Amino acid sequence: MAIILDGKSLSKKIKNNLKDEVKQLNSKGIFPKLAVIMIGKDPASSVYVKNKSKACKYIGIEFEEFLLDENISEEELFNLIDNLNNDNKITGILLQAPIPKHLDINKAFERISPKKDVDGFNPINVGKLSIGIDTFISCTPLGIMKIFEEYKIELQGKNVVVLGRSNIVGKPMVQCLLSKNATVTICHSKTQNIEEITKRADILISAIGKPKFVKENMIKDGAVVIDVGINRLDNGKLVGDVDFDKIESKTSYITPVPGGVGPMTIACLMENVIKSVKNK
Ligand code: NAP
Repeated sequence: MAIILDGKSLSKKIKNNLKDEVKQLNSKGIFPKLAVIMIGKDPASSVYVKNKSKACKYIGIEFEEFLLDENISEEELFNLIDNLNNDNKITGILLQAPIPKHLDINKAFERISPKKDVDGFNPINVGKLSIGIDTFISCTPLGIMKIFEEYKIELQGKNVVVLGRSNIVGKPMVQCLLSKNATVTICHSKTQNIEEITKRADILISAIGKPKFVKENMIKDGAVVIDVGINRLDNGKLVGDVDFDKIESKTSYITPVPGGVGPMTIACLMENVIKSVKNK
């Protein structure tokens, strides 16, 4: 039987530690504050923003939400970002993705001050991560690294395969794994014979966004499987990328969905917001 990597419990532990840290900061007159910008009314994004606001409230981090009309111009968005960059009370800024197609998300991430970029998406922070300078790291890969640490899953010299090369998960994940001396392969939609690659993985991380993509024949016995995917089925059920019921017994460790990577992402965002006070 596999060991279930319980991101929910670990995230609770992290959040409780952060709560104590915030109390100490507050007693010194330091108040971390997160500003979240959301453009339009994407239902999934609304849920994510609500969860982030709840986590801030639990830990004692100040939170302010900026709901913008979906037709907002780039200039108006950038004016808001500039104001938040210059606002001394705001220590962290997050732009909730996706944003409407007429806006360039990379330009928007670049506009957020690297010192307040708690998502780690500003090119300066992306670059710092890639050359090993301490910085804000994208919250999902950071959360996965904390799972490895908590469960003492060794990375050095291991064959790790990452499915998905997005800027928010796959690519920063690779940098985090390299920093721990793993041998990393990244696959994407143009990769050929994917199962030949995944079958060699000691550790498989899937961040694709396709339900039951990772099947029994794609993993080797005893592999560690991390499921980043969040997919809503027609019946409303939330599932990952991995065919959990079929492969669990073949793995040594596996994350569930929900209750695996998802809660860790939020806990790491909270950690980044607290880290942001040091940049004031
Ligand atoms: P994304 O930007 O859509 O990227 C998906 C990646 O998967 C792309 O690199 C794509 O390849 C690759 N891909 C798609 N179909 C594939 C296939 N058949 N074979 C191999 N690779 C394939 O997605 P994302 O934002 O990284 O998110 C991925 C999933 O993780 C989603 O379900 C999302 O909801 C979830 N997520 C969860 C958390 C969390 O906290 N748990 C956080 C972020 C995201 P190309 O580059 O070639 O198109």
